[in-house]
Amino acid sequence: MNKAILIICDGLSDRPIDELGGKTPLEAALKPNLDELSRRGVNGLMHTIDIGIRPGSDVAHLSIFGYDPYTYYTGRGPFEVAGIGMDFKEKDIAFRGNFATVDPALTITDRRAGRIDNTQDLIEELTKIKIEGGRFIFKKGVAHRVGVILRGDDLSAKISDNDPHITYEKVQKVYPLDNKPSSKKTAKIVNRFLEKAYQVLAAHPLNKKRVQMGLLPANYLLLRGAGQVPNLIPFSQKYGLTSACIAGAGLYKGVGKMLGMKVINVSGTTGKEDSDISAKIKAAIKALNDHDFVFVHIKAADTLAEDGNFLGKKEFIEKIDKALAPTLKLTDTFIIVTADHTTASTLKMHTSDPVPIVIAGRGVRTDHVSSFGERAVAGGKLGFIRGEHLMKIILDLMGKAPLFGA
Ligand code: ZN
Repeated sequence: MNKAILIICDGLSDRPIDELGGKTPLEAALKPNLDELSRRGVNGLMHTIDIGIRPGSDVAHLSIFGYDPYTYYTGRGPFEVAGIGMDFKEKDIAFRGNFATVDPALTITDRRAGRIDNTQDLIEELTKIKIEGGRFIFKKGVAHRVGVILRGDDLSAKISDNDPHITYEKVQKVYPLDNKPSSKKTAKIVNRFLEKAYQVLAAHPLNKKRVQMGLLPANYLLLRGAGQVPNLIPFSQKYGLTSACIAGAGLYKGVGKMLGMKVINVSGTTGKEDSDISAKIKAAIKALNDHDFVFVHIKAADTLAEDGNFLGKKEFIEKIDKALAPTLKLTDTFIIVTADHTTASTLKMHTSDPVPIVIAGRGVRTDHVSSFGERAVAGGKLGFIRGEHLMKIILDLMGKAPLFGA
């Protein structure tokens, strides 16, 4: 028993819903495979960060992998740039970027510049801009999105977004969020860059052509989620386990890359409802041949709940369940299924309700739980754990936990 597969179903758990007869989507779903895992495993509830804390997906994942988010998380930017495969260095400042359209008064008329996709020439021009004190590096993301890294000495991620986050508002100047000289310096560098970027983009032939064609010009760069790339001990070093990551959505590939996991791309995985979950699970089982630990991320239950679509969420859970069937045949592997947070369909948002967790595999002290539901697992022998405990428990089950004392 020296392998483990951790399946994190984003926003899997929920609250009871009247239209589902007072059940949650997970409780209402037909899920024979998940229920079988519950029968074979030890069950419980997990606060991925802590009691009463509503977790974002990024911090919840860090915590589940045993990296204290209060130490290592400074913003979403680093995860996004990692997710699109950018190479980053410790202390780089990373942002999520958008090409947008502004009018001459710098009011945003479209936050996505008409969902422009052919941004490669624009990115090339932006790369040529020279600003004293820092170098800007770019990589095209999906459609209008772009990953941005600022590299230099004594920089800080404690700066605001220039993105007002809504249309028909003026773009904002970036300002320091604390009094440190590094934050003031970084804000100045970013503002200088954004001014030049506007000049370059507004004058670019591609944008002139777009205007002639009646399309929106991509004449402004919106930056948000500044974060400093943390100095993390790679997962393999921290736990002595070779590891792989299988995810559709960029953020979760970013988590894997940041932790030094081998990111395996599987075709047909989209991070959406139509994602080929079976392909992911098959790829994960294959990856167990040359990795000790495989992390699989499945996204859409969260997105559906954020749309208030509890029926869609229930159906998606049934789809996950079908895809999990081959895991029941694994003989020398611990199978762990859980979520990064609860997403309440009624509130359309993440909540702090603890998430269900099951750990199945030979040697696990089983309990009497026979259904993988939020309330059923509450009677399980794992009890209440926090995200930070999970890797310790898995290592111990694998016989690889360090001994405390003599
Ligand atoms: Zn999430």
